[in-house]
Amino acid sequence: MRLLVVEDEVRLATALHRGLSREGFAVDIAADGLAALDAAETTSYDAVVLDIMLPKLSGYEVVRRLRARADWTPVLLLSAKDGEYDQADGLDLGADDYLAKPFSFVVLLARLRALLRRNAGPRPVVLEAGELRLDPGSHEVSLAGSAVVLTTREFTLLEYLVRRPGQVLTKTELLEHVWEAGPDADANVVEVYVGYLRRKLGAEIVQTVRGAGYRLATS
Ligand code: CA
Repeated sequence: MRLLVVEDEVRLATALHRGLSREGFAVDIAADGLAALDAAETTSYDAVVLDIMLPKLSGYEVVRRLRARADWTPVLLLSAKDGEYDQADGLDLGADDYLAKPFSFVVLLARLRALLRRNAGPRPVVLEAGELRLDPGSHEVSLAGSAVVLTTREFTLLEYLVRRPGQVLTKTELLEHVWEAGPDADANVVEVYVGYLRRKLGAEIVQTVRGAGYRLATS
């Protein structure tokens, strides 16, 4: 899952980057409203964490412009201004949720996961594909009832595949959503991690579609 964090306070941006990366998200940071709009235009994000008080364009204006250009990426607004007035304003403009500063990282994470679930359509909290079960909250994975231990990055890759069962996903798409790499990054890392998943979950779990990419086996 790739996130855009829009925050001009360097310390908070750094802390969010560190915390969210540790949870397995690929995280890009934008420090003002215009940079946020540019980033959202060139990269497809799974969600945006958006501060309201920003240089150049406010968070409100960023949401308004995203929605005006039919970008429906889920947006979680952050604000230092505590009040229902702000909240109503943001939600009216098309934000999906709102969190007042100061917030706890655990709460931010829970809200983000809720947004990502909502965006992925009606899905159970625990994801299932055949005999595979994974819990995005606890990072627990089991195959035919036996627990499997995955690293954070392996989990993120598997979660991305499981949320799109049967879909062919290109290496570029996987690289973009699972790693923090730019477009010129080495796609071999995708192959390496698909190899790790196959070793832990069985060779047939991820199918190679020659010349196109990978997909999760659906049975
Ligand atoms: Ca700010």
